[in-house]
Amino acid sequence: PVRVRFAPSPSGYLHLGGLRTALFNYLLARKTGGKFLLRIEDTDRTRYVPDAVDNLLSTLSWTGLSFDEGPGKDESFGPFYQSERTKIYKNHVDKLINDGNAYRCFCTSERLQQIRNVAQKSGKGVVYDRHCLYLSQREIDQKLLQGIPFTVRLKTPDGVVTINDLIYGNVEFSDKHIDDTILLKSDGHPTYHLANVVDDYLMGITHVLRGEEWLSSTPKHIILYKLFGFDLPKFAHLPLLLNPDKSKLSKRSGDVNIKDLAEKGYLPETLINFVALLGWSPVKSKNDIFTMEELISEFTIEHVGRSSSIVMRDKLDWLNKQHLLHKTESENGLKELVNLLKPSVNEKFENYRLKDKYLSNVIMTIKDRIRNIKEIPKLCEYFFIEPNYSLKDSQSLRKIIPNDILKSTSNLILKKLNDLKNDESEFQIETIKSIIQNIIVQTGYKQQEVLMSLRYIITGIRVGAGVAETMKTIGKETCLNRINKVLK
Ligand code: GLU
Repeated sequence: PVRVRFAPSPSGYLHLGGLRTALFNYLLARKTGGKFLLRIEDTDRTRYVPDAVDNLLSTLSWTGLSFDEGPGKDESFGPFYQSERTKIYKNHVDKLINDGNAYRCFCTSERLQQIRNVAQKSGKGVVYDRHCLYLSQREIDQKLLQGIPFTVRLKTPDGVVTINDLIYGNVEFSDKHIDDTILLKSDGHPTYHLANVVDDYLMGITHVLRGEEWLSSTPKHIILYKLFGFDLPKFAHLPLLLNPDKSKLSKRSGDVNIKDLAEKGYLPETLINFVALLGWSPVKSKNDIFTMEELISEFTIEHVGRSSSIVMRDKLDWLNKQHLLHKTESENGLKELVNLLKPSVNEKFENYRLKDKYLSNVIMTIKDRIRNIKEIPKLCEYFFIEPNYSLKDSQSLRKIIPNDILKSTSNLILKKLNDLKNDESEFQIETIKSIIQNIIVQTGYKQQEVLMSLRYIITGIRVGAGVAETMKTIGKETCLNRINKVLK
């Protein structure tokens, strides 16, 4: 059975790249009925960001990527924090040393800096000169006795290492380019390479799906697997993510962190759909819009490409619009939107007309215009409070409507609305439309002039949903109030 893992380092908040890695692992697990594990690779204390783990857990759960095994879930293969597994790594490293596959390195940082400079000048790929590999047992014992700090290095075997990558195919690395990598740091903590290999093996990982930036580490991992006598997992490296200017997308380039995007009003469905298309493309699909269920059924590693993907913000906005629209099509989806909308409306308009029914009517009225949950309150201010006719947008609209047209349109609509029976059922879109049509015929004004006048009166702004639809949602009484106000 497939066992895959997402193994983030808590060095920052979950970003688009991390979400994609997590998603592809999740999809593979769900598709094959396998297990999806979460492991926290927190051995590098210098890059540790205190609330990164909290952010990770809450963001994963917000996006719906639930893991089967990991912190606080099924812990039988745990602990899942690498910082709690120090002993395990130490034992494994001791075995490598005893077998002559790793050695202690007592070199000072000054010496290492020196040989690094030399290597850089000569353009050599390999830096460490194996000075400590040739220490005698007596020298080693002496240094240990003196308490001189040491690291443990891998003794890179001679030869070529070939990765059979499910996405990149066969990739060869010569030992000439593989340094005697540090496995255990002088503080006793493992490096990424050691901990990653030991854990993937002990946790029964069958497929390692991770970003392309790790491809160059994989030869070291393969060497370690072989030296330990472990079976190799399958490797699949996911293509690089780039900014539109082709620079590498990094957590540091900002604006790619999921929490920020959530706060900007992107739906979890949108973000999942968006990252799914970064590198993967559907086999038979009709379009670019996918729900999680559709992704699970359509995802295959074979359809992940090798070329880098550019992260386009326009696409994100477009997808968000589609997913919002999709939600308005079902009762539950609409309910969800109302609940998402409530807090921000509450905050902005202090409990103005907070009936769910009203909110869902507002959403349905403007649904074709919403790109983003967060912009709804601003987009539909006039549904909640009186238009502010003194604003710039309002005044510039007012300027292009001739006074007499605004005046007679207002008077006529006022009269015709007052003529309606005082019953909500009388105030329907069709009725309102025919009233408007009537005014146009009666006055001989252009349709656009009448609509613009009404839009000005009811919303105070230039663009919005249909006038009749808007009036219906706002309600007869409020419409009458606004007309009277403008007439004054
Ligand atoms: N801890 C690594 C990271 O932060 C994991 C890489 C891997 O999946 O092996 O991305």
